[in-house]
Amino acid sequence: MIPYGRQNITDADVAAVVEALRSDWITQGPAIPRFEQALAERVGARHGVAMCNATAALHVACMALGLGPGDRLWTSPITFVASANCGLYCGATVDFVDIDPRSYNMDVVALEAKLRAAQASGTLPKVVVPVHFAGQSCDMAAIHALGQRYGFRIIEDASHAVGGSYLGQPVGNCRYSDITVFSFHPVKIITTAEGGMAMTHDPALAQAMERLRSHGITRDPAQMDGAPEGGWDYQQIDLGYNYRLTDLQAALGHSQLSQLEGSVARRHAIAQRYDAELASLPLITPWQSPDAHSALHLYPIQVDPSRTAVSRRALFDGLRAAGIGVNVHYIPVHTQPHYRRLGFARGDFPVAEAYYAHAVSLPMFPTLTEAEQGTVIAALRRLLG
Ligand SMILES: *Cc1c(COP(=O)(O)O)cnc(C)c1O
Repeated sequence: MIPYGRQNITDADVAAVVEALRSDWITQGPAIPRFEQALAERVGARHGVAMCNATAALHVACMALGLGPGDRLWTSPITFVASANCGLYCGATVDFVDIDPRSYNMDVVALEAKLRAAQASGTLPKVVVPVHFAGQSCDMAAIHALGQRYGFRIIEDASHAVGGSYLGQPVGNCRYSDITVFSFHPVKIITTAEGGMAMTHDPALAQAMERLRSHGITRDPAQMDGAPEGGWDYQQIDLGYNYRLTDLQAALGHSQLSQLEGSVARRHAIAQRYDAELASLPLITPWQSPDAHSALHLYPIQVDPSRTAVSRRALFDGLRAAGIGVNVHYIPVHTQPHYRRLGFARGDFPVAEAYYAHAVSLPMFPTLTEAEQGTVIAALRRLLG
C-alpha cells in the first residue's frame, strides 16, 4: 500500500536518538532547549515551547491566553478535531467559520460577517484558531486586522505548515498572531514520533506555557509566591499538566530540521507533477495562493461532479483497491457526533460540507518515488477515464 503520508527517518536521525539515549538525560535534558531554540530561530519567533503533541500545545496555548468558561473559541470546520477540542478542554464554547471554496482555509469574509453579528449580540470570541490547511497559510494579515478591530486573540494551528511561508516570511514567526502551534506527528512535515511546539514572541506567554506543560510548576524564584525556602523549593503556580516532550524526541526533532527545506521542495515537485498530469481529468486540484508558499503537507483533490458521474466513494474505494492509501481530510468537525450533541447540525457550514463530499487526499510525502506517483496517476486515469 502506498500511504498518503510517511515519515522520513535518516541514519543521522537514528544516530541522534541513540546519542541522546546514551546520554545522562533521556527525558528533560539539553536536547529540548536546543530543538526549541533551533526551530524558533528558523521561523523567526522569540520562543518555542516543546510539548508531547500539538493537541497539548493547543490546549496550553488556550490556557495561556486565559480561555475559560463563558468564553468563545472559533475555528475552521475543515481541520482535525484537536483545533476545536482545545476550546472545550478549557470549558469555553466552540463555534466555526465556514471555509473559502478555493483555499479551503477559514473564509475571511465569513469571519467578518460573523464577527459583526457577534458584536451586535455580545457574543464575540476570545480566541480564533485559523488552520493552515494542507500547509498553506491563511490570510493572516486580514485575520490579524479583524483581531485588532474585534479584540480577539489568535492561535495559528500550523500543524501542517512548518516549513511554509506567508508574504515571504516563515510560518511560525507570529507576526500576525499570539501563538503558532506546530505538530511533529509522523505524517506531518518533520517528526518527533509524537510531538508539538508552541511558538510566541511574548515572554509572559512563553513562561506561562512552560509552566502549564509541567504541572503548573516553576523553579524560577521570580515566578514564586514569596521568596524560595531553599535551593530545593519549587512552587505550583497554576493547575498544569504533564505535557512534556522527551529528550529522545527532541534529539530526533533537531536532527529532522535539516530535512525541512528539502522536504518542502520535494513536496512541491510532487505537486507540480500531479498538477500537470491530472489537469485533463474531472478533478479540482489544490489552488496555491500567491501570498503563501505552502509546506504541502497534503494534496487534496476534489472529484468535480459537474464533469464526471464517478462518485468520491467510488474513486476512494477504487484507489484503495489499487493499493493506494488515500484518505479524506477532513470530516467537518461540526458533523462529528460529539459536536452534534453540542447543537451543531449538517448544513451549518455548507461550503465545508460541499468540499468534504468530494475530497480525497492523494499520496504526498518526500520519499514518494516517481514510479509510485506514476501508479497513483495511472489509477486515477483508469478510474476517471
Ligand atoms: C495533526 C493535527 C493536530 C494534532 O496534532 P498532534 O501532534 O497529533 O496532537 C492538530 N491540528 C491539525 C490541523 C492537525 O493536522
